[in-house]
Amino acid sequence: MSRTGIDAALGLLSNETRFDILRALATQRFTATDATGMTFSELFAAVDTDDSGNFNYHLKRLLGRLVTKDGEYYQLTHGGVQLFSSLQATTYAPDSERESLPLDQSCPLCTRDLKATYEEGFLAIGCGEHVIVEIYVHPSWIESLSTDEFLDRVSLLLRHHIEKIVDGFCPLCHGPLGYELRSDDDPYPIQYHYPCQQCGTELRLRPQQTVFRDATVAAFYRERGIELHETPPWELYDTYGETWVIDGGPQTGFELVVAGDTARVTVDGQGAVRSFEQPE
Ligand SMILES: [Zn+2]
Ligand SMILES: [Zn+2]
Repeated sequence: MSRTGIDAALGLLSNETRFDILRALATQRFTATDATGMTFSELFAAVDTDDSGNFNYHLKRLLGRLVTKDGEYYQLTHGGVQLFSSLQATTYAPDSERESLPLDQSCPLCTRDLKATYEEGFLAIGCGEHVIVEIYVHPSWIESLSTDEFLDRVSLLLRHHIEKIVDGFCPLCHGPLGYELRSDDDPYPIQYHYPCQQCGTELRLRPQQTVFRDATVAAFYRERGIELHETPPWELYDTYGETWVIDGGPQTGFELVVAGDTARVTVDGQGAVRSFEQPE
């Protein structure tokens, strides 16, 4: 987004009536599963004003960039949804944070139990000593979902993130990602790094995570009782065996150990399996 684009968006938010209109639309959008948008009179009733002329003026100024009109219904544009989503995350009240959730799984780096902990918009999965996964989670999930629903949703989100990263798109801003093998990492010495060229976020995947969608890999798991697309990514760490760099990279090799059987796999870090050796 350009500087003038940012100024224009902030300018739209700086008026109380316009902010109230956006907040009413965002509240409906984020709380009702079948949100259709709001009519002029519904919006007018939701905003604290008696001056319909003034209200109409501000509503018109929002049209196009942050609000769109479909028939008689006003809705947030895609940009409006993203803007309010980020605002909610950065202003979320910490007193309603969920406690740490135990995951019935031990840390892949030590023997402690894994927990999921929510803080300031990010969900971290770790043992207290090691952070295994960190992911942006919309604050409304914390309030509106049961623990099981919440973990199912996080698992799905994490798989979508991994798929986007492998495809070269930033899961946070949809910008293009760079790509590099690093072998000096902590806590996992061998990881692929994907720096976002748009928002600057440094995304990382372990080599095993780059081939979730490969049919041969999925079949290897399935034949041993694990459906990859139904299993939370953090439950798969136990199946990741040794990892090594091939000829200085960027290809890597690794073992997958499932139900006592070991497969040896070579990958390129961009979603392709270069070789797969099944156990006899
Ligand atoms: Zn640990
Ligand atoms: Zn990005």
